[in-house]
Amino acid sequence: MSNDDQELGITESKSYSPGDWYAEVVLKAGLADYAPMGGFIVTRPRGYALWEGLQDHLDGWFKETGAQNAYFPALIPESYLERESDIVEGFDPEVAWVTHGGHDELDERLAFRPTSESIITPFMSQWVRSHRDLPLRLNQWCSVIRWEATDTKPFFRTKEFLWQEGHTAHETEEEAWDETMTRLEQYQRVFEEVLAIPVMPGRKPEHDKFPGADTTTTVEALMPDGKSVQGATSHYLGQGFAEAYDLYFTDENEDERVAHTTSWGLSWRALGALIMTHSDEQGFVCPPTLAPEQVVIVPIWQEENREEVLSYAEGIAEDLEEAGVRVELDDRDERNPGFKFNEWELKGVPVRFEIGPHEVEDDEITVVHRPDGENVVEDRADIAETVEDHFDAVFDKMYEAAEENLEDNIREADSRADILGTIGQHGGYVKTAWCGDEDCEAEIKDQISAEIVMVPLDRDEEPCGDECSICGDEAEETAYFAKSY
Ligand code: AMP
Repeated sequence: MSNDDQELGITESKSYSPGDWYAEVVLKAGLADYAPMGGFIVTRPRGYALWEGLQDHLDGWFKETGAQNAYFPALIPESYLERESDIVEGFDPEVAWVTHGGHDELDERLAFRPTSESIITPFMSQWVRSHRDLPLRLNQWCSVIRWEATDTKPFFRTKEFLWQEGHTAHETEEEAWDETMTRLEQYQRVFEEVLAIPVMPGRKPEHDKFPGADTTTTVEALMPDGKSVQGATSHYLGQGFAEAYDLYFTDENEDERVAHTTSWGLSWRALGALIMTHSDEQGFVCPPTLAPEQVVIVPIWQEENREEVLSYAEGIAEDLEEAGVRVELDDRDERNPGFKFNEWELKGVPVRFEIGPHEVEDDEITVVHRPDGENVVEDRADIAETVEDHFDAVFDKMYEAAEENLEDNIREADSRADILGTIGQHGGYVKTAWCGDEDCEAEIKDQISAEIVMVPLDRDEEPCGDECSICGDEAEETAYFAKSY
């Protein structure tokens, strides 16, 4: 192995040191670098391309369902934040403040937005007069800053992160709740149909809601190391924010009423989940739905057939490009095919075409799948169509592996010892009957730092047992305990 090969390779083990392995994949696949300030990252073009891919899908769905993009200032006056007390309290320890403009101290501190309800709702209130102005659905793609106290990790938890935040206002609770669900379903869809990760939709327990929200809903994804990730959240905010920011409207009878609002956000944590779920000890594994290059063509030539092999490969690249496939022809002279295979595997290209003199002679292509190395020989003719079947096959393999991990790791427990033992031994989700008291959760949290990551969406669903597994009181709902990112 040359030095180059060693530098390229992943040295950490996904099973034994998942944290170090994850960081190594992020760095070596060229997705991000650490910034000079702790907790911040620099997103490199390959990482940013993933974000753009995700954005393309979601943004289209948001627009189809009535949301319009807008942009509000990154800085929010302190007096605006203070108008909704829950937001102030909830985010207070995490807010980054701007106190000076140039050399002059500002009259009023400005918060770098940790979330934008407090600047968007006051403007919605100016734009809404009557019920005819509702529903109003805004979305913005931006970054937010939250001075996270817990350990940061590229994409999963950073102090500045990219996200989208949607903010809507409605006449009735029912409409606002439908909106909350529409967005949650879109998040579930983006995880399942774009990121190849099955998720569990649910609700956060009361004590873990978004500050000021009536209900926080979430999609949770299980990582291979047994920890849960809160993939995205959609909040029904009730009327609290509308009241705090004077978001009133006149109804059909000319009566003044308070609007019902929602907010919903998905951050680049989704990319963290993607990288961690599918990647392996060769590097990043990316589904064709998002991969910056869906196919890499590696020609394998000797001096005597170089021209022939190369022009055959170029023809294939042209056909794919014409069909709208994202393709890279790696015709570098200075690298051998083995090196190229490793490099593109590290970078996560889902499908590789290997083309040597035999393929040219037989009018064929050797097609290799990144996730498992399966290879198939295909006819050269119709390759632009056949390749789509390979994309589907690769996507399905990735989804199925993640689904198996999820299905195998939801277990029931009916006592404190059982919850602790099951999570301690296997990780994953433990489903158990719970009385609804935060103190019961605290007992588990203190001992193994697992918490209730969700409860069922349906408030009327019967709990999975009669008594709380922790205190023995009457059970109110089913809780899903897990360690989480
Ligand atoms: P929230 O506004 O707190 O409901 O957050 C919306 C979404 O942003 C969450 O569901 C997380 O997936 C994500 N998120 C929250 N904090 C961070 C962070 N520090 N880094 C990356 N993503 C985050």
